[in-house]
Amino acid sequence: MFSIEKYYEQANSGDKVDNTQVINYIKSFEHVVLWGASYLGEAVGKRLQEFGVHIDFYWDIRADELVEVNNVKVLMPFECDFDKDKTLVIHCIGNHVIILNLIAELKRNGFNNIIRGDYLYSGILCKFCNGDVLTAERCWTSMHCRPVICERAASIIKKQNNETKAGDRIDLIYIVYVINSICNLSCKYCVQYINNYPHDARYNVSYEQVCKDIDAFLDTIDTAGTISMMGGETFLHPDISKIVEKFATKKNYGFLSVPTNGLHPIKPNQLEGFKDPRVVINFGYYLHVATEQQKENYYKNIELVKSYGIPHTIGLQMPTWTTPSTLYKLDVDEAYMKHKKQNCPMPPRDLQVKNGKVHICDMSLAMHNMGLVDYPQDYLDLSSYPDIEERRNQLRALIDREYYLTCGHCNGCGKDAGTGGIQGVRDVFKP
Ligand code: SF4
Ligand code: SF4
Repeated sequence: MFSIEKYYEQANSGDKVDNTQVINYIKSFEHVVLWGASYLGEAVGKRLQEFGVHIDFYWDIRADELVEVNNVKVLMPFECDFDKDKTLVIHCIGNHVIILNLIAELKRNGFNNIIRGDYLYSGILCKFCNGDVLTAERCWTSMHCRPVICERAASIIKKQNNETKAGDRIDLIYIVYVINSICNLSCKYCVQYINNYPHDARYNVSYEQVCKDIDAFLDTIDTAGTISMMGGETFLHPDISKIVEKFATKKNYGFLSVPTNGLHPIKPNQLEGFKDPRVVINFGYYLHVATEQQKENYYKNIELVKSYGIPHTIGLQMPTWTTPSTLYKLDVDEAYMKHKKQNCPMPPRDLQVKNGKVHICDMSLAMHNMGLVDYPQDYLDLSSYPDIEERRNQLRALIDREYYLTCGHCNGCGKDAGTGGIQGVRDVFKP
């Protein structure tokens, strides 16, 4: 009996994948719909057609503009009069911030036969296996897959790392280093809540502190698939080049992703340190909220990055976005927090390092850095444990906690916040 979970495991393992059963499984449905018709959906759709799969249609919020992809009609999401029990939806929207919300939305709308398109990509399209060397150029620049959360890439990187550290391994798919809390935009639904930071909490973390954090945390874990170097706006940090060089001295991660809104002028000397083949600059799409000057900066920045030969991706406008949780304390009990934590996809997938501390998620980091609360049990203070073995024990204990006090503030995120990048201020502090 075919199990999609087993198939995901194989696709994510880094081993060669036998796709016979998954293709037969897909063909066993009367109707097949792909949700998401941009890079990932287009690539997955084309490959499935080569396997002889009939795709009834795509769903995409840009249906009017796209009309057809791979000779398949594009309709608006959920436009469908098929029997839902006989319809398979392959979810091909790769953005990791919204992916789980969208899958939940599918279920709420009665579509229970779902395949993760990003995992399917790893199985039917990925050219790389255990033993191959992954680079940003190889994995990121096609824009087809989602290396930032690619479990296949994380497995390949894990197998490459033979260094032995004390106790059970700590291999993470994705971690975040936050290098500043200043931004040139003011996004209403920023997942880092930068827009809500008080004035005195808006700053660049010093180069020296970031270096300390790179040493302390990367020496604690075994491997990480992707490190995302986040802001704020990363290119507002004057030492970004040196920080990237510092990351390059560490071997135990796969990719260093540097997101930027691209609207602030990048100086050539900020790119000098971008020489490691694992580093990629990810331009987000904020042109719909940019001034004329910022638009000009954006196109110049892309040309500058190209002239340095640095791997980069250029994002499309996000058709939908998510509303991050509010931050005030909810009137909830321990059972709520336990339930929240135990059903949360974040730890250990979203550990956030800033100023000597590893926080369990972006909410925990934001609340601490804004000075809203101090919940020491929700973060690891790296400087408190000079011994690596003890630091590893403490990190495992943090990840495995039954619940976090931060979860008592968390009402989840998920309601559709319209298109990504909407500007404005939202009160996240008052009930
Ligand atoms: S990120 Fe790299 S390893 Fe993962 S599916 Fe894409 S090409 Fe393959
Ligand atoms: S507060 Fe708790 S439930 Fe909410 S994202 Fe963080 S760890 Fe998950």
